[in-house]
Amino acid sequence: MEALSVHQVNKVYNKTVQALQDITFDIQEGELFGLVGPDGAGKSTLFNILTTLLLPDSGNIRILGLDLINDYKQVRQEIGYLPGTFSLYPDLSVKENLDFFAVMYKSDIEQNMDIIRPIWKQIEPFSKRKAGKLSGGMKQKLALCCALIHRPKILFLDEPTTGVDPVSRKEFWEILQTIRTQGITVLVSTPYMDEATLCDRIALIQNGKILEINTPADIMKQFRGCLYTFRSEDIFSLLNALKECPLKCNYYPYGEYCHIAFYEDMEKAMPTFIQFLDERKQEHGEIKPIQPSIEDCFIEIVKMNRHE
Ligand code: ADP
Repeated sequence: MEALSVHQVNKVYNKTVQALQDITFDIQEGELFGLVGPDGAGKSTLFNILTTLLLPDSGNIRILGLDLINDYKQVRQEIGYLPGTFSLYPDLSVKENLDFFAVMYKSDIEQNMDIIRPIWKQIEPFSKRKAGKLSGGMKQKLALCCALIHRPKILFLDEPTTGVDPVSRKEFWEILQTIRTQGITVLVSTPYMDEATLCDRIALIQNGKILEINTPADIMKQFRGCLYTFRSEDIFSLLNALKECPLKCNYYPYGEYCHIAFYEDMEKAMPTFIQFLDERKQEHGEIKPIQPSIEDCFIEIVKMNRHE
């Protein structure tokens, strides 16, 4: 059954900024669904709408069979929300925050301890510490406990790992996998492309539009180009020179490397490319074929959409 069904949702701010445009997607019960896109893509706007904090201009949304707008009070009982900004009380202790959220939701901590136990065990040693004094990762674990304490059927997490260290990010995603096995549907947004591969399905969003919805594996299979990577001593000079590359290609810096996707017959294209680099006196390391990452796929999809 569908846990969430979003149909043709639009939102414009101040009559000028189209934050969401015809957003349509479904999430199945028990799915871990990722909303992946850069800053300003519209992720928080969508989360604020789905959690009944903001009205859409148009569109239909059903959550667990309820109408989001007409049944908003019931919807609030069924969902948990971890907003992008720190939402706990910094001057209350860890335990006081949990108690507060339990009381607010008329929920019993003991009765629901089974659902938060794996996370709570990690923060319990700091239960007397003020929430504002926790590390970024610990804050998010506490926020997750508070969002789960009323046993929601759907959990919304808006960029829960932004600004969190890499070890805590990994731990946080392991926790999300556990939550999913407890039958809770999860919608999580992230600007980190590597995290996208941990979801069952992802929606790629940019400028308020969903560009693609699929499993991470199928998104990677659909990459159309032949992707190569290589190093250069002077990446700026290289990127500048590539503006005049005569081949049909898409290039971008990728850390210390340059990634280039060709849309050509590579047997002919590679010698032409090497000759082009030599003529422009561009020093380069070995040009190796690689499998695309989700980030490469996202870049390709954005580019294709611009030209379609
Ligand atoms: P994301 O969460 O993906 O970073 P947002 O939903 O915050 O994206 O923003 C989408 C677009 O809407 C951006 O262009 C942003 O500047 C704009 N925006 C967000 N909130 C407001 C607001 N309250 N008033 C006006 N514009 C807004």
